[in-house]
Amino acid sequence: MRDLTGKVAFVTGGASGIGLGIVEALVDRGVSVMIADLRQDHLDEAAARFEGTTTVATVAVDVIDRDGMAAAAQRTLEVFGRCDIVVNNAGVGANPSVDEVTYADWDWVLSVNLGGTVNGIMSFLPTLLAQGEGHIVNTASMAGILPTANNYIYAASKYAVRGLSESLRLTLAPRGIGVSVVFPGLTQSRMLQSEQNRQAQFRSEVPTSRPEGGPVAPPPNSGMHPRELGEIVVRGILDNQANILTHSEFRGELEEHFASVIAS
Ligand code: NAD
Repeated sequence: MRDLTGKVAFVTGGASGIGLGIVEALVDRGVSVMIADLRQDHLDEAAARFEGTTTVATVAVDVIDRDGMAAAAQRTLEVFGRCDIVVNNAGVGANPSVDEVTYADWDWVLSVNLGGTVNGIMSFLPTLLAQGEGHIVNTASMAGILPTANNYIYAASKYAVRGLSESLRLTLAPRGIGVSVVFPGLTQSRMLQSEQNRQAQFRSEVPTSRPEGGPVAPPPNSGMHPRELGEIVVRGILDNQANILTHSEFRGELEEHFASVIAS
């Protein structure tokens, strides 16, 4: 897939933050995009950015709704005739304390982050296999590589997305379909804003310190721009790059501990 002009993409969570950054970078490369998102207000905001562009369409869907995702895939094929790039990006975070955690917290994060990724794959797999070409991009997180305290539900979901992606890449490569997994570090978005609010509150309540040799705390307020990340993802698709790491401040630490994960 050296030239993306005329290709078609489906991007979940594409109406905000990282997903929107990916959509913008794809549109700039001449890709037609179906933006899929749960929130109609986010979709309206995103649609306004692309007003007058006939190569962008939107669909309101919850990624955990299997029938809804199948219908969204069908809609994409009706509107654009094919689908070449499936970006499973929609995600949520919950970091309840161990004193307050409930099964509802687990169900929500795992069903959106892992289940939603599975549903995106399942909805488009027959199309991609029939075409004999295409690319799947799944958004994991640094939390799927480098564990930190008080993030166990989100980490479980993102480690799972990583495992799913790594195996699927090996499975689909002989069928002409690439699979990438993205590990963003802190990125400016609605999610990061709410997470920073939560952490600020947590820090003011509980003094924390880094145990000797323990994980490095993320640098405060250092989120990268979603658009920058979108560009990196698109370059990854063009190069058929499998693992796309996106936070240089973590790179040294990652290379030391997870050398095998890092694409050379
Ligand atoms: P965001 O909140 O700005 O955007 C997420 C979008 O997904 C929103 O428009 C939201 O409406 C949509 N969404 C949420 N649940 C959905 C559902 N069930 N079905 C369909 N759409 C849904 O967040 P973001 O920071 O851009 O996050 C995008 C992805 O990047 C997530 O998978 C997140 O885990 C991951 N990530 C974010 C960061 C960061 O620092 N922001 C770091 C690493 C990984």
